[in-house]
Amino acid sequence: MGRYDERDAMFSRMAYEKGSPQYEEYYRRHPEKQELDDRLRSSNGLCSPASLFYDPFLSGIAAANFQFLADIKLFSERAIRDRRILLESREATLLLKNLAMDVGADVVGVASMSPDFYYSVRGRIPKYYGDRIAEFQPYGVVFAVQMDREMIDSSPKSPEIVESSRKYIEAAIIGMQLSYFIRNLGYKARNHMDGNYLCILPLVAEAAGLGVFGRHGLIISAEFGPRIKLGLVTTDLPLETDSKLDLDLEEFCNDCGKCASGCPGSAIPADRKEEFEGTRRWIIDQERCYSYWMKAGTDCGLCIKNCPFSKTANLYPFSKY
Ligand code: SF4
Ligand code: SF4
Repeated sequence: MGRYDERDAMFSRMAYEKGSPQYEEYYRRHPEKQELDDRLRSSNGLCSPASLFYDPFLSGIAAANFQFLADIKLFSERAIRDRRILLESREATLLLKNLAMDVGADVVGVASMSPDFYYSVRGRIPKYYGDRIAEFQPYGVVFAVQMDREMIDSSPKSPEIVESSRKYIEAAIIGMQLSYFIRNLGYKARNHMDGNYLCILPLVAEAAGLGVFGRHGLIISAEFGPRIKLGLVTTDLPLETDSKLDLDLEEFCNDCGKCASGCPGSAIPADRKEEFEGTRRWIIDQERCYSYWMKAGTDCGLCIKNCPFSKTANLYPFSKY
């Protein structure tokens, strides 16, 4: 499968202001997407007073959380200290995993990074639009924070987006703490957080054994099911890596289908996996999903709520061991 171009992601497309160079360039290449995107750009928007589940207080909290995230994303990259402290990979791995848990992660792993986990071209931040991603770090410290079950059970109403935005902040701040710490040891470290990712985090989480993909396209973690937000720090500090889980939920998802039948945007396929660029997978229709978010004014979350692993969250019976 080829690397994904971030310019095609809905959040990137929504950031192209009419008349801007990004807008002109993108729709010159993708005229077929222009009408839908223009409509969505002028529609309600997340947390908007005109949206279905607007709540003056809760939507305001979520909007403020996203503003805060937009401000701090600029701290994702910083210069490293020139004097390097030498560490054994085992010692460094333990140190970073303990630090991640200590500052709030609920699960953490280390992935051996593949260039395939990175976007091919940047799109979300106008300043970097069109930049090819050609620098890859060998290790990824990937972690998750769990989202509160009661808040997620309110999906698609506004408590869901309060929880979702709050956990984006938690993941971002854990990543900041890890990356600042690693740079002070004299190694490269880059925090990947909401609005400023260079990588597709679920692919990294799968590689590090944090969970496996479900039909809804989300990582189902062994501990909390899909009720998580992911964070990632990529680094050149030598670390010991974890392995993928030896689990397969395909048969279970074939029988279950609750995320697909409960999706108000009809964005999750109800059929079996299909062949796509050399891999078999379920393909989520991001345009349909995002269109529903614009109506709801929240990031919906019904597929997380409806997944049985969000309730019982125990993948171990599916293990091949
Ligand atoms: S977030 Fe909502 S609209 Fe999007 S795929 Fe999940 S259930 Fe469907
Ligand atoms: S709701 Fe069912 S089909 Fe969808 S990901 Fe969860 S287990 Fe799989």
